[in-house]
Amino acid sequence: MVAVARVQAMGILIDAPKQRSSCLPGPGQEFIPFNQVLWISPEGESTKTLTYAKGSGSDKYTVKTIKISLASGENDVSKLLDLAYGPSKRQKRLLVLINPFGGQGKAQSIFQTHGEPMFRAARCEVDIKLTEYRHHAEEIAATLVLDAYDAIVCCSGDGIPHEVLNGLANHKSGQGAKALRKVAVCQFPCGSGNALAVSFNGSASPSLAALNIVKGVKTKMDLMNINQTSLDSNKRYVSFLSQTYGLVADCDLGTENLRWMGGQRFAVGAVMRVLSLTKYPCEVYVEYAHEKREQVTAHFAKYLDQDSNEQGEGSQHDDSAAELPKVRSVKDPVPDDWVKIERPDLCMFYVGKLPWMSSDALMFPATLPADGLLDMVLWDTSAGRIKSLNLLTAVESGKHYHVDQLQYSKITAFRLIPKIDSGYLSIDGEAFPFEPLQVEVLPGAGCFLSATGGYSKTLLHDHCRRS
Ligand code: ADP
Ligand code: MG
Repeated sequence: MVAVARVQAMGILIDAPKQRSSCLPGPGQEFIPFNQVLWISPEGESTKTLTYAKGSGSDKYTVKTIKISLASGENDVSKLLDLAYGPSKRQKRLLVLINPFGGQGKAQSIFQTHGEPMFRAARCEVDIKLTEYRHHAEEIAATLVLDAYDAIVCCSGDGIPHEVLNGLANHKSGQGAKALRKVAVCQFPCGSGNALAVSFNGSASPSLAALNIVKGVKTKMDLMNINQTSLDSNKRYVSFLSQTYGLVADCDLGTENLRWMGGQRFAVGAVMRVLSLTKYPCEVYVEYAHEKREQVTAHFAKYLDQDSNEQGEGSQHDDSAAELPKVRSVKDPVPDDWVKIERPDLCMFYVGKLPWMSSDALMFPATLPADGLLDMVLWDTSAGRIKSLNLLTAVESGKHYHVDQLQYSKITAFRLIPKIDSGYLSIDGEAFPFEPLQVEVLPGAGCFLSATGGYSKTLLHDHCRRS
């Protein structure tokens, strides 16, 4: 059966037979927004095959195909595809890396059900590889023929994007910066932590992630350079998500003895530490961009009306450089203009580049993809148990941003020196050597795919629009 369809400003209205004309979909009518149109191909003079992603609630999309007939003047396939794709590249060439052990070991079947059909329907070129061991994804990225792909799709948690970005940064051509600019890194979420997909799509839905990869536009994002004495000095270490010490690192990496609790283990570990007012002594030096929260909010508001891809405030990114910029060593003296933070009661040090650390932790509501700045949250035990517990629950919605006890700043670099004998440093969710850590922003060094030109909106968008 062929349905009569009309082209409207924002999409295609599919008419049921004998419906009176109207702008809104009536009974039997269906409106398909252009951003859900995957492909249109000619069948005959006026008849087309329309393939689209149909939403079925809770961010779930499935591929549907119908035959439609369009009036002449509306039925030019290439014009319709222009409307469907806008500035986004069509028929992307995708390298899909599946971690067969990520999350609950279901990555492969989640991809086959919710990813592959979407990519095929959009006529993407899809090469699929399973990762066979730790660091395999890093090796694949480091030896990749850069002209062969538009994007690497990581079917995993945040571990594989971390490996892929590090592989590109250490690309065998010696041109790490170029490799990172050339190939976009995306996540098809099927791990235990899916911060990258949640931060760009506002949800951990795999089918929405696939749709946004199909419709995504290359978007620059700052990365962070990791420097530690015992890391291989011939290698570049980059982070895209976070570095943390204290409460969260301990709960993430130090709750092995609670593993039987499964998902609850993190919350229980955190509550136990807050109740015992555990302190995490350290020395911290930072290079501030905006120390006070009011300054951070003003900075965010200023960027709201601009393209998030516009140049940032930190040191500028050179678009032609083949290599990543030189950075200062953790072995050098602390630069004079870095400020020492005096917080004897510190319980959490957290620096990050993505808003969501997981679907239920909006840790950095003020972060922007390429402002050349890193968001930093510091929190100490001086507030006492009740306020600290409230703060912990407020992180879910991002409301901790407005809590006075917490310091929220924007910085460009820091050095952290732990002052206890043993503990955890978590970088992108992985354990790193427990020793001094120096981090510097690499402005605009990475590229991702975003269907909206930036991160998913946080509570700060509304807050800034109101005031
Ligand atoms: P999760 O969210 O469940 O932690 P990730 O995708 O983050 O899943 O992956 C976790 C780790 O699994 C990564 O650090 C990666 O190095 C490792 N890994 C990938 N493939 C394999 C494999 N075939 N065998 C063992 N480990 C692997
Ligand atoms: Mg992981």
